[in-house]
Amino acid sequence: MNHISIAIDGPAAAGKSTVAKRVAEILGFTYIDTGAMYRAFTVHVLNKGLDPKDEKVSCSLIPDVDIKLTSDNKVYLNGEDVTRRIREPDVNANVSYIASYKDIRLALVEQQRKMAKNDNVVMDGRDIGTYVLPDASVKIFQIASVETRAIRRYEENMQKGIPCTLEDIENDVRKRDYIDSHRDFAPLKAAPDSVLVDTSFMSVDEVVNAVLEIVKNKCGDFNA
Ligand code: C5P
Repeated sequence: MNHISIAIDGPAAAGKSTVAKRVAEILGFTYIDTGAMYRAFTVHVLNKGLDPKDEKVSCSLIPDVDIKLTSDNKVYLNGEDVTRRIREPDVNANVSYIASYKDIRLALVEQQRKMAKNDNVVMDGRDIGTYVLPDASVKIFQIASVETRAIRRYEENMQKGIPCTLEDIENDVRKRDYIDSHRDFAPLKAAPDSVLVDTSFMSVDEVVNAVLEIVKNKCGDFNA
């Protein structure tokens, strides 16, 4: 049986994970947060007291890193629950360096492809439609203005009790966008066959409905 895969790519804090999670829930698909994997790897490098800007040192840790995503959206690093830790400011500040290293990407992409092989999935990230799952059934490229994205992420952090300032969030979002879209290997870009969804003036429900409509148009009306 052919499995259905929905790829949702886009810049930092564009609301991809919120939408991907809801779409997965409604369709009964598995949600895969690939950003969480790069974040967990970053936590490992930081835990070791090493510099995430050092490619050689960071890549040397690949054999030591075991990352698991669970169906209740928890993230484990070598058996430890790092679900909350991966959203902290020092991880935000360093994750795009880690994600720019080819060897780390190859290791995590292999795991991502395995997860999508035997399941219907909604996978979000930066390179899902272009590199991880180039044959994805549906490809969405989800964007919003930097200002909107920063405000959304700021409010999300406040709700979760993660301390931050709006200015720091906006700078972080701009920096990550720049690094993610300028790296050599599998940079952030829209797949030519993706559908652009600009969420700047849309509510979460509107985006979820728009994505479900795109899925219906491409894959037909189905009950998972
Ligand atoms: O999606 P999220 O913001 O949690 O991703 C964190 C970082 O991981 C991104 O800024 C990017 O550097 C990296 N990433 C990536 N490729 C993916 C998913 C995330 O490079 N597929």
